[in-house]
Amino acid sequence: MNIPDIHIPVVEIPAGKKVQLFMKREDLIHPGISGNKYWKLFYNINHYLDRKPVKPYLITFGGAFSNHIAAVAAVAKQFGIPALGIIRGEELHDRWQDNPTLTFAARNGMDLKFVTREQYRNKDHITVSLQAEFPGALVIPEGGTNADAVRGVGLMLNNQTKDFDYLCTAVGTGGTLAGISSFCEDHQQVVGFTVVSDSSLEGKIRELTSKNNFSLIDSAFGGYGKIKDENIRFINDFKSRCGIPLDPVYTGKMMQKVFELTEQGYFPENSRVLCFHTGGLQGVEGANLLLKKQNRNLII
Ligand SMILES: *Cc1c(COP(=O)(O)O)cnc(C)c1O
Repeated sequence: MNIPDIHIPVVEIPAGKKVQLFMKREDLIHPGISGNKYWKLFYNINHYLDRKPVKPYLITFGGAFSNHIAAVAAVAKQFGIPALGIIRGEELHDRWQDNPTLTFAARNGMDLKFVTREQYRNKDHITVSLQAEFPGALVIPEGGTNADAVRGVGLMLNNQTKDFDYLCTAVGTGGTLAGISSFCEDHQQVVGFTVVSDSSLEGKIRELTSKNNFSLIDSAFGGYGKIKDENIRFINDFKSRCGIPLDPVYTGKMMQKVFELTEQGYFPENSRVLCFHTGGLQGVEGANLLLKKQNRNLII
């Protein structure tokens, strides 16, 4: 993978209060490999291909709407490498065609293997047997988080980002937060907006960054992947005010919480706050299909 030769805009978001709020549009980095997933895969894929594998094969894990699954499928297609996605939810076996993320993955040539939630919880076990079955395959963990991913996230930081006081990101597995924490400037504070309720998350992040420069803010809004009406209202309102689309799982919840914190005076007056738009927009179509079935308002 290369460092795309495109300009990533940092745009100001009207925030009220005496805080300057900005968003770095990492979602624009690549049409298929969205946002932070591009950077998390960057060194993983490059180090693997540098080793010139005889029979290259990418294997990874994810849920039905996973941005990571979509990203790995797009990378596999770009490099002509066969790929296998282990997908949580056996019931999807007969109806994955109704799911835009999984059809995108399949169209990009990814084979899909559906496993029960129980089997999925034992991913480590599956990994061991896959490595025996496909020696030489690159097995990328769920969400793509590992030490190479953390290094890759460091590439989101540059001259554009170093004067901000606060750097904000949505947090799933924590790899992105760990990368920002590891590579940001000493004067910067990192704020992670957790969309998954997982009490072991902070410990996992501390294994990936040695710095003590981050805080975590619960932004799950009822749970991972759950979408409340207030989340839809926020996303639609944000898009019509700022022209920036947000996804319902990560960036929408982060920005909603950032606005709440701004109102509450969390950021001191005159702070400069930068939020990373980590992508995830491929998930909007699938979310809207579910919302439509529930007769609810859609994400515009
Ligand atoms: C995967 C993802 C995240 C979370 O990244 P982690 O490194 O797993 O914490 C945030 N935002 C978007 C859009 C994502 O797809």
